Amino acid sequence: MSNIVAIVGRPNVGKSTLYNRLTETRKAIVDDFSGVTRDRHYGIAEWVGRSFTVIDTGGYVANSEDVFETAIREQVVIAIEEATVILFMVDVTTGITDLDDEIATLLRKGKKPVFIVVNKVDNHALQSDATLFYSLGLGEIYNISSMTGSGTGELLDEMIKCFDDEPAEENTLPKYAIVGRPNVGKSSIINALIGQERNIVTPIAGTTRDSIHIHYNRYGHEFMLIDTAGLRKKTKVKENIEFYSVMRTIKALEEADIIILMIDAVEGLESQDINIFHLAEKNKKGIVLVVNKWDLIEKNSKTVKVFEEQIMEKIAPFTDVPIVFTSVLEKQRLLKVIETAEQVYENRSKKISTSRLNDIMLPIIENYPPPALKGKHVKIKYITQINGNAPMFAFFCNLPQYIKEPYKRFIENKLRENFNFSGVPIQIFFRQK
Ligand code: GDP
Ligand code: GDP
Repeated sequence: MSNIVAIVGRPNVGKSTLYNRLTETRKAIVDDFSGVTRDRHYGIAEWVGRSFTVIDTGGYVANSEDVFETAIREQVVIAIEEATVILFMVDVTTGITDLDDEIATLLRKGKKPVFIVVNKVDNHALQSDATLFYSLGLGEIYNISSMTGSGTGELLDEMIKCFDDEPAEENTLPKYAIVGRPNVGKSSIINALIGQERNIVTPIAGTTRDSIHIHYNRYGHEFMLIDTAGLRKKTKVKENIEFYSVMRTIKALEEADIIILMIDAVEGLESQDINIFHLAEKNKKGIVLVVNKWDLIEKNSKTVKVFEEQIMEKIAPFTDVPIVFTSVLEKQRLLKVIETAEQVYENRSKKISTSRLNDIMLPIIENYPPPALKGKHVKIKYITQINGNAPMFAFFCNLPQYIKEPYKRFIENKLRENFNFSGVPIQIFFRQK
């Protein structure tokens, strides 16, 4: 299930204000972890229990005047192709500009659901002005004030009706997505894996148009590979390489079980990579880190360790993630990438029996119980794994509200030490018993 909401519109209409409002709480959490200060233009939002990815296209427009309008037009075209729903934002205080008209024309030609979001309708008096935007010819208008949040509820209620609720496809093969910044070597690795024998590759028709799902079935390995790189070369994306690649990445990320995040050994893990990492983590996807172009690094006996430590520091606190050092150029460890993804897939799908879980975890807890709070002792009685796509554990106890973050971390580490969850975000809940 992949639901992506793109906010498009010309500058200053209030896109990033709405984006911030929609992603507020989540964003704070992520930024707390990573210490990344760079602006984030995409993130996870939630409405009545439905989560979706929202992308603020404004963050991807170049500043220079001459490419500016071209860039915006191009973005709208990409958004029409890639997003589930488009929020076309306009500004009640300025009325309809030429660029608004142009965007509307593009959107009318596209086949995606479009919501006209008339922003800055801060008071009743402005509501009659807003009716002007019916003339854009895109149907209903939604008056909101991003600043106060008024009107956003009605908009979101309608918007989620357009979401795709179907399970992605009946195909149950593991899905691996190769993601990463432009130029890290994504196309190269896919070519190296499948290139010589294109005939073993069956592009799956009927999925989202253009989305590249490759059925890999060789040497006893069978899975679907989601390619985020191949397409870029075919479309006429000029001004928006980064936007396009982020869009593809988010989409692949929602569809896949396992994210193979490729980075360039020379450039190291950058803030954009960290953002993708956290998005994968938040989406409870399995993760494999691939450090490519390893051939370009001068190495000694400590190099791998130094790289690993630098990466761990940046992705903390979730550091139980496998790292594979590859050179696509020299065909080094490419199969290892596949095998690692398979291992992570297995880790993510595994179910631990309640008896085994309790046999191992209860003695650990007994040795190191949760600290007492206000003179009260927390007693954990039993543990069970909850059914779901990704590992979740419920710890039943008398006073769940007394368990604090450090103890939760301790429990998570012990689970990781005793059962292999490498590459897999796990969730732990303390419940009343
Ligand atoms: P973007 O360029 O489309 O991302 O626009 P911004 O979100 O940066 O907003 C542009 C300006 O409009 C900022 O000064 C915001 O404070 C202001 N703004 C955004 N939403 C509202 C709103 O609902 N009402 C009013 N009055 N101003 C708003
Ligand atoms: P993408 O944009 O992520 O798909 O990256 P490409 O696969 O197009 O690769 C970008 C450039 O990096 C190309 O010139 C590749 O030949 C080069 N490249 C890819 N893998 C390696 C590698 O392992 N070592 C070196 N030295 N270059 C590589």
